[in-house]
Amino acid sequence: VLDVRGLVKAYDDTVVLGGINLTVAEHEVVTLIGSSGSGKSTLLRCAGVLEPISDGQILLDGQDISDPRIDADAVRARFGVVFQAYNLFPHMTVRDNVTLAPRVVHGVSAKDARARAEALLERVGLADKADAYPDRLSGGQQQRAAIARAIAVEPRVLLLDEITSALDPELVGEVLALVRELAASGATILMATHEMGFAKQVADHVVFLDQGVVCEEGPPAQVLGEPTQPRTQEFLGRVI
Ligand code: ATP
Ligand code: MG
Repeated sequence: VLDVRGLVKAYDDTVVLGGINLTVAEHEVVTLIGSSGSGKSTLLRCAGVLEPISDGQILLDGQDISDPRIDADAVRARFGVVFQAYNLFPHMTVRDNVTLAPRVVHGVSAKDARARAEALLERVGLADKADAYPDRLSGGQQQRAAIARAIAVEPRVLLLDEITSALDPELVGEVLALVRELAASGATILMATHEMGFAKQVADHVVFLDQGVVCEEGPPAQVLGEPTQPRTQEFLGRVI
């Protein structure tokens, strides 16, 4: 589904991503791990065409979405993106947050968008919060609402960037449980995470980024359990 080829990203003269190759197949969960500053967020933003790239190609369903001539808004509408925090529009109810993109970007009628939002909020366990404003929700509820909003457009790929790292520890589980449920139901997911236990259980493929390059990748049991690269071993020694 998503194919990143030779992706280079530089800010001025600083190379942040030094030629990344990465594939996310249909229904696959790929997790990005790596130290702070290794380039995980930059990779997710570039993959979702939220940022221009310096070199390389990004293909979505075989189409080159890194081509500058492409309609970036139309391409972005095929991704569902959730960041660490502040995903929801604060001046809108949870329901309006969830119905906005389907109505505005995808032209779904208000009635259909509303019905779909009810079903999605039910699915993420927030049926009773539809009329609430984001500041009345716990951090975990906000992230679940943000996930409902991201999947409301039926994206081809979900890009999740450390979506639990701003949460109190007791709220992390409810959000990860939802991601696990999405994965089980066939979502295609590329996610940066610090949750190694979660990566081990849910990921099909783990990619360890180090200073903007893929240092090691493979099945979670191998990368997290029996890493071969000294940098991976050192990183895991620090985080686990
Ligand atoms: P973290 O785990 O802390 O979220 P990360 O792996 O997501 O880290 P990035 O946010 O992708 O790392 O940052 C990678 C590098 O790119 C860092 O050195 C950062 O300083 C640099 N960088 C990111 N955004 C910009 C920008 N807009 N301008 C200049 N440099 C940037
Ligand atoms: Mg980051």
